[in-house]
This record gives sequence, structure tokens and C-alpha cells, in this order.
Amino acid sequence: MLKPGATIGILGGGQLGRMMAIAAAQIGYRCHIYAPEQDSVAAEVSAEFTCAPWYDREALATFAAACDVVTYEFENVPVEPLSAIPADLLAPGTKALEIAQDRVREKRFVEDVGGRPAPFAAVDHDSELADAVERVGAPGILKTRRDGYDGKGQWRLAQAHDAQGIRVPQSGSVYEGMVHFDCEFSVILVRARDGEVRFWDSTHNTHEHGILAHSELPAPAIVGEQVAEARALAQKVAEALGYVGVLTCEFFATADGPVFNEMAPRVHNSGHWTIEGAVTSQFENHVRAIAGLPLGDTASVAERIVMDNLIGETALEVVNHLSDTRAHLHLYGKAEAREGRKMGHITRVGEG
Ligand code: AMP
Repeated sequence: MLKPGATIGILGGGQLGRMMAIAAAQIGYRCHIYAPEQDSVAAEVSAEFTCAPWYDREALATFAAACDVVTYEFENVPVEPLSAIPADLLAPGTKALEIAQDRVREKRFVEDVGGRPAPFAAVDHDSELADAVERVGAPGILKTRRDGYDGKGQWRLAQAHDAQGIRVPQSGSVYEGMVHFDCEFSVILVRARDGEVRFWDSTHNTHEHGILAHSELPAPAIVGEQVAEARALAQKVAEALGYVGVLTCEFFATADGPVFNEMAPRVHNSGHWTIEGAVTSQFENHVRAIAGLPLGDTASVAERIVMDNLIGETALEVVNHLSDTRAHLHLYGKAEAREGRKMGHITRVGEG
């Protein structure tokens, strides 16, 4: 168990690291951010900051030597240079990163533990696309194997013919059949060092332009019917990875049961409501898990909880947001508002 006062290293300098560092500070830990960009909103609220490239092994080793545990808030941290960090210092480990960084590996891994992703076919070259569309069927979505997030690196194919002229990215891609779903939900769990697992309530998530816009409790009845199966799968994923910390699995609720969409080996946007809406937030429980502390209660504190993302320019209209005096406003301190950029979020707990 890490004593308060110990230093938690966080790879990645964005808003997830910022909220993690704030939660860590609340229970007496110091955070040290490692990020390649100078303008880190996580570093702003942390004790230490190393600004260095992901492939700078010397800087990574020096950073690790100054930390009592190292975690990540960004799933696309390159895995290869992480060997500069002692493996027993890193939680969750590199296996979760390797799998989550490659959509094809991720889907095969989930199938191996008994889960059901959308029908898919790996497409590594242009010449393989037509065959993949033929086998999986149209409509569907071609997604980059790597580095995709928030709907980026995706091409929707309404019919097989649309595949003509598409250039498959060099790092490969995966073609997925379009899933007909009632709604989307996520399972967020925390797994402690001793293997104890706790789940937060699953919100109904709605996306706009591929980006999460809104998470809401209570979720529709279909989520309640399917959440036990989805949780069992997420737990198997966590166990197979020997996972420590918060893990998120996203699902489509369909007429045939939950279909796995993707996983994030980290705290997740669809869990931001837990800061005010659960007894213990995803950020605090992640810190507790990696520090070897007992986990906190994950129960929701109200039946109705909503979280709205603040995206783009209008996010900074603070007075408008605060006209609802019950709104919990979070702004991430980003200097520049751009279209599609997550600038903050608002949580409302209870009726109203
Ligand atoms: P992703 O980045 O893969 O999570 O995709 C972003 C969003 O696109 C998802 O949250 C869904 O709303 C939608 N989407 C992705 N894949 C599929 C699919 N196979 N079928 C239907 N909708 C999808």
C-alpha cells in the first residue's frame, strides 16, 4: 500500500489526468505528469511535470525513478518505450494498452473470453476491402486499426459500392458491420490489486458526430436487462489482463443482447458523472486501486443523474451554464476552444 504523500506518475497530460490528479490530491498523494505537449491541463494541477517525447526512454526512466507507481490516462501511449519503466511500477500494465491500441486484437481478445463484437474483418490492404465488405455485409464502418478515437479515422459505407476508391491506411484497418442498436451504454469497473471488482451504474450514452455528448441515469429498461451479461464480460476482460485500476467497456444494447463495441483501459468520459453522482468517483477509485488502498463504494447517490459534455466554442459561456444553480460545472482549463474539442462537462444530480 502506498502511503499518502507518495507520488503517482501519470502518462498523458489531458483532462482525464487532471481529474485523476485532483482526486489523488484529495487523499494526500502527489502527481507527476509525463506528456509530450507543453500545455498540459493535468500538469497545471499536479506537483511535477516532465515534458518529453513518448520515445525518450531516458526521460521515461528518470520519471519512473521519481514515482512510486505509474499509470496512464491516454490509451495510445506507445508501448515499446515503456520497457524503460519497471513493469511492477506500471498499473494497469502494458498488455491492456497493446490490446486496446489495435481494434482487431481487441475484438479477437473479447471473442476469446466469450464476448460478441460486431461482425468484422481485418483489412490490411486496399485489395482486401471488397472481400471484407462481401463477407461482413453492408452497411458498415471501416475504422483504422490504430489511433482512432471520438469517431476519428472512420468511413461509413452505406453499400458495398462505396468501398471503391477508399485508401486503406498503412497501419491497417478493420471493417465492421453496422449494428442496429436500441442504445449505447458503458460498463465501468474498478479492479483492486487483490482482485476485488466493483461496478458503477451503467448510463445511457448518446454520441454526436462520434463524440460522447450526454450520459444519463436511469438508463432505459433494455440496459437494465443486459447489464449483467455486459458486466460479466468486462470482468472477464479485466481478469484475463490481470488488470488493476478503472476499465471501461462500451456496448450496444441490441435486440439480441449486448454487443461489445470497444474498451478503454482507463477512466472514461461516460464516468465523469461519478465525481458528484457516486459515493466514490472513477478517478478516486482508480487512485485507490493502483495505490493498493481499499476500494470505495461505487453506488450512485441519486436515481436521476445527467452529464453533458461541453464541446467547442460555447463551452466557455460560463454564466449561461451557471444559470442552473444546481449544475456542477467542470472546465478543463484548455486555452483554446476548437470545434469538436472537449472543453468541460456539467453534471446534474437528482430530479430537475
Ligand atoms: P467508436 O469510436 O468505434 O466507439 O465509434 C464511435 C461511435 O460510432 C459509436 O459510439 C457508435 O455510436 C458509432 N458506431 C461505431 N461502430 C459502430 C457499429 N459497428 N455499428 C453502429 N454504430 C457504430
